[in-house]
Amino acid sequence: MKKYDDIVVGSGISGMTMSLLLSMNGHSVLLLEKGPHIGGSLARFSKRGIPFDTGFHFTGGLHSGGILADILSILDIRDSIEPVFLSDPSENQFIFESHGRRFEHPIGIENIKKKFGEYFPSEAGAIERYFDKVKSVCSRTPSLNLHANTIAPPSLDEDYVTLDEVLKGLTSNTLLRGLLSGYAMCYGVRPDEMSFANHSRMCLSFYESIACVKGGGDAFIKAFERKFKEYGVDIRCGAVITELADINDGKVGRFILNTGEEVVADTCVFTIHPKEIVNCLPQKYLSKAFVDRISSFESSAGFFSVFAALNSDEDPYPGETIVSLFPDDDVNKLLDPHYNGRQALVIIKPPYQAESSSGKGICILEPSFPEHVSAWSSSHRGQRPQEYIEYKKARIEAIKEHIFSVFPAYRERLDFVDAGSLLTTRDYLNSPDGSAYGIKQKMGQYNLIGKLPLHNLYAAGQSALLPGIIGAMMSSMIVGRAVVGKEQFGKLLGRALCH
Ligand SMILES: Cc1cc2nc3c(=O)[nH]c(=O)nc-3n(C[C@H](O)[C@H](O)[C@H](O)COP(=O)(O)OP(=O)(O)OC[C@H]3O[C@@H](n4cnc5c(N)ncnc54)[C@H](O)[C@@H]3O)c2cc1C
Repeated sequence: MKKYDDIVVGSGISGMTMSLLLSMNGHSVLLLEKGPHIGGSLARFSKRGIPFDTGFHFTGGLHSGGILADILSILDIRDSIEPVFLSDPSENQFIFESHGRRFEHPIGIENIKKKFGEYFPSEAGAIERYFDKVKSVCSRTPSLNLHANTIAPPSLDEDYVTLDEVLKGLTSNTLLRGLLSGYAMCYGVRPDEMSFANHSRMCLSFYESIACVKGGGDAFIKAFERKFKEYGVDIRCGAVITELADINDGKVGRFILNTGEEVVADTCVFTIHPKEIVNCLPQKYLSKAFVDRISSFESSAGFFSVFAALNSDEDPYPGETIVSLFPDDDVNKLLDPHYNGRQALVIIKPPYQAESSSGKGICILEPSFPEHVSAWSSSHRGQRPQEYIEYKKARIEAIKEHIFSVFPAYRERLDFVDAGSLLTTRDYLNSPDGSAYGIKQKMGQYNLIGKLPLHNLYAAGQSALLPGIIGAMMSSMIVGRAVVGKEQFGKLLGRALCH
C-alpha cells in the first residue's frame, strides 16, 4: 500500500494548482483524474489542424501585480505563460443590438470610466460611484489578498445585496445597467441573484487587464506537467476514489481506488463539483443539514459552444478579439433558462496564430442551461437520439444567422467545424450538469470550501470561492494554505512575491 501526504481529486486548474502548491511545500502528492488526461476544462482539442480552446479563452489578472500573475509566480510557472493583452479598446466590445449601440471596453478603471462617461455623459456620477464601490469591495476582501487569505463566510454588506439592486440604485438607464452587468457571462449568474460583492470580486481583474494566453489552456497544462515531474507528483488518470476506509476519530485512513489500488494519506482535497464530493463521502457521516445545503446548490449557466474556422487569409474584422452580443439590455433575461428570445453570444478570436495551426479558429459561446437538454440527459456521447441531433443543428443554424446579421462579411468566410452542448461539457468534464462555472453562486449562499465533515478531507475548486480560472486557483491557494500551514505558506509567498 502506498503512502502519500496528500491526495488531490480532480485535475482541472484547481487540482493542478493544489497539487503543485502542496508538492512545492515538500508534501508527497497523488493526483487523481477521472478522465483520460489531466487539465479538466483547460484542455484544447484540434479540428482541421486548428487548436480550439473549450473552457479557457481569456482572463484578467495577468498584468504585473495582478492576482493571477502573482499566483503563477508563487507556483514558479509565470515564465511559461505568455499573455497577449487586449490593450486596444476595440479588441473587447459589447454590442447591445436592441439599441444599435457598440461599446469598446478599454483596460484600466480610469480608462473605462472615461470611455463609459463619453458614451453616457449624463451618467458620469453613477459610473464613478459604481467603480468606487467595486474597488471598495475588493480592498476589503481577504480572499483577494494572497498574504491574508482566509476561509471566511460572506461578510461584507455588499455580500447581501444583489448587483441588480445596486445598479438600480445608481441609475435608471437600463442600457448602462446592461453594460455594467455584461461580465455576468463570465460567471453565469443573473444580476438579480448575484451579490454585488462577488460580481465586484469577479470583475476587478477584468477591469484591470484582459489577456488571452499563447497556446491557450494547454499552455497551463504543459507548465504544470513540467513542474509535476520536477516535484515528483504522481498522477493517475481514469482513477476515482470508490471507498473511504479505516475511519477513526472522524479521519479517513485508507482510500480505495477503482483501479484496485489502496492508498494511505494524511489529507485528501476534492476539487470537483460539490454534488460529486458528497457522492464520494460515506452517508453515515453526513448530517441531513449538510446534505440539504449541498442539494440546494443550483447550476450556473453553461454554454452551447460552436467552433468555426476562418477559411480566408483575409479577416474582414481583424481587430475584434472578444465581441459580446446582447440582444436585450436586461441581462437577467439573457441568463434565464426559460428566456426564449434571441440569446446572447460571446465570440472569441484569439489574437495570435498558433504555430501548428492551418487557419484561424473562432469560438462562439451561447448561454445555455441544463433545462435546455434535460430531455436527453440520460444519453451519452456517440449515442444521442435523433431529436438531440436536430436540436443541435437548429441551435447551430440560429447562432450562424445571429453572427451573420452583425458580421455579414463572415457569411462566406466561416466554416463551422464543431459544436457542443451542455451534455458534451458534462460528459467530457465529468461534471453533474455541464454548467460552465460549477454551482450558481447566489447572494448570501455559503459555498463548500475548506474542511468537510470528515476532518482530513477538504473542498476547493471553482464552486468553492469564485469561478473562472482565477477563482478556481484562489480556492486552491486558500485551502492549500490551511493544509500546509500559515507559516510554511508564508515562506513560499515571501520567496515568490517581493512587492
Ligand atoms: C465553455 C466554457 C468557457 C469558459 N471560458 C472561460 C474563460 O475564458 N476564462 C476563465 O477564466 N474561465 C472560463 N471558464 C470557466 C473555467 O473553465 C472554470 O472556472 C475552471 O477551469 C474550473 O476549474 P476546476 O479545476 O475547478 O474544474 P474542472 O476544470 O471542471 O476540473 C475538474 C476535474 O475533475 C475531474 N473529476 C470529476 N469528478 C472526478 C472524480 N470523482 N474523481 C477524479 N476526478 C474527477 C474532471 O474530469 C475534471 O478534469 C469557461 C468554462 C466553460 C465550460
